[in-house]
Amino acid sequence: MARLTDTLVIDADGVYDLSDINDRLLLGLKSQMSEAEIHLLTSRLNESKRAAARRGDLRMPLPVGYVHDDENMVVIDPDAEVAAAVADVFTAFAATGSAYGVAGAFAGRRFPRRAYGGAWAGQIRWGRLTHARAAGILTNPVYAGAYVFGRRRTRQAVHPDGSVHSCTTELPREQWQVLLHDHHEAYVSWDQFLTIEAKLAANRTNAGARPPREGCALCQGIVFCGACGRAMQVRYQDRHPRYECSHSRHDHVATPWCGSVRADTIDEVVTGALLAAVAPNQIALALAAADEVTARHARAARAAGLAVDRARYHADRAERAFHACEPENRLVARSLEARWEARLAELAEAQAALAVQTSSRPDLPSPEQLAATVADLPTLWAAPTTSDKDRKRLLRTLLGDVTITPSTQDNTRIDIGLRWKSGATQQIQATRRRNATQLRNTDPATIALARSIGPDLNNAGLAAALNAAAHTTGTGHPFDTKAASNLRHAYRIASPATLTDGELTPRVVAARLKTSTSTVHEWLTTGQLPARRARGGHWAITFTPDIEAACQQRLAASGHIHRDTDNIDRQPGELSIAQTATQLGVKADVVYYRAHRGYLPTRRGTSGRRWVTLTPELEADCRHRIANSYKPPDHVKSQNPQPAERIAV
Ligand SMILES: [Zn+2]
Repeated sequence: MARLTDTLVIDADGVYDLSDINDRLLLGLKSQMSEAEIHLLTSRLNESKRAAARRGDLRMPLPVGYVHDDENMVVIDPDAEVAAAVADVFTAFAATGSAYGVAGAFAGRRFPRRAYGGAWAGQIRWGRLTHARAAGILTNPVYAGAYVFGRRRTRQAVHPDGSVHSCTTELPREQWQVLLHDHHEAYVSWDQFLTIEAKLAANRTNAGARPPREGCALCQGIVFCGACGRAMQVRYQDRHPRYECSHSRHDHVATPWCGSVRADTIDEVVTGALLAAVAPNQIALALAAADEVTARHARAARAAGLAVDRARYHADRAERAFHACEPENRLVARSLEARWEARLAELAEAQAALAVQTSSRPDLPSPEQLAATVADLPTLWAAPTTSDKDRKRLLRTLLGDVTITPSTQDNTRIDIGLRWKSGATQQIQATRRRNATQLRNTDPATIALARSIGPDLNNAGLAAALNAAAHTTGTGHPFDTKAASNLRHAYRIASPATLTDGELTPRVVAARLKTSTSTVHEWLTTGQLPARRARGGHWAITFTPDIEAACQQRLAASGHIHRDTDNIDRQPGELSIAQTATQLGVKADVVYYRAHRGYLPTRRGTSGRRWVTLTPELEADCRHRIANSYKPPDHVKSQNPQPAERIAV
């Protein structure tokens, strides 16, 4: 630009005209050199910063709870309230086991925050402890007395809209540039810090973790479906929680054996297995094994110590040989020096191996301590003060997972597979609990007895007999007449005969007289046919030949009772009501209705019977009216039309 507009460029050393090639060249060279100089300066500054950090001297902003003292050392905040609040975060985590629990414990309590920048820079402000801050404090290694540099990395990133942003990512611990333990006074030990970190990772459900929850289903989070291999969920919908393989069903990958099972069925088995595993005799075995492990460690450590002694002897010998060599004999001296160095390297290696052996020695509790804890365990497990969450944590310390497989032969059986943390596995069979209907089923022995004595007794007698034999209903109550009746109905137990010899039901009588049952009922209700009421209100008719003959006579004399085949006083061309109904394709009721309303002219015969002369015009009119009349839908219509065709009105 300066070249195009003939502008001169001036710096401390001179004036440059950019239209001149020499000046352009000089300026280009100078800018390259200054770029290189900036790079060198930055590198030097960064390296000195890193060197200070490696010594633990680089001063960095401190989290709340720590301050720099007059000698630039990191110390716990002398403000007792601040220090107590920070210490209480770790105490609350030990009690609740989650960052949300810590935030909950601090509800209604103020928590300090150090302001960075702005008008309040460096000062303590008081506010609420949020979940994010609680998690930040719990995962900050500074509180474990560690000096850390390079825990995060910042990178510039160009967004799709062209804007440039810096994004910070947390690095894994092995990539931290500086980590100095015991740099300053700690709120928690480094081991506690690692435990907290592991617990928080186990709480991260969005990363697939299934931490113990508050519910009473003990295997929550460690229970798997044996049919499809996926994790089972806990459903607390009704009084009894269930483990169910619902994810597979939702994803349409469920097998026919994926299902659900009541949680207490599984929990009882698992609890029994756990308490059996930590029974005193099992612990005695475990202690014997632990003694063996300790002895093995001691032997390994002794071997490592001997290896160090031997390496030291070889190194000393190589050193003496090097010193004994004449300095003029350079070739020999050089090879002796190389050997000495190799021996020294071997010594360092052996010492490192010894350090690993001694540090990996497991800490075992004393046998007395263990025995006391184990003896108390069943009481502790059942104590009402022990929360379900604690039971689950205890369970998970020993048990890896539980796999539930329904038996393919018998759906009441379930195979429960236990995988212990020690690597041992165990298979236990359990029986499903019976559901509410099955629990209320009558005892098969009661049904058998009712079946044998029921046909000879009425319901009251049956109830009395069952009660006398100390049988109860499915719900545990004594039998009464209604219960006996229900039992008879449900299990199809025959009743004692209703009719005595020579007695008939109205239906049989009607069939014998070739008339309708309604006619017989009419006679029964008007007292024309003698009968008695049997059990349950049924009619029992003593149908002697005399009575049958009387009935036949009554039928023959009645003007109301007829058959379509009998054509008394029918005139040529006339149709009976039933014939008319058939011709019109309707029920006899419809024809009677039309006759009553006067739509269809009829003629009464001498016995009072109606006859219809169905002319084509009349038929067409009838069909038209029927077609246009309202008809109820089929399902509303009576299923049993009255046998009206046999009764003339
Ligand atoms: Zn499944």
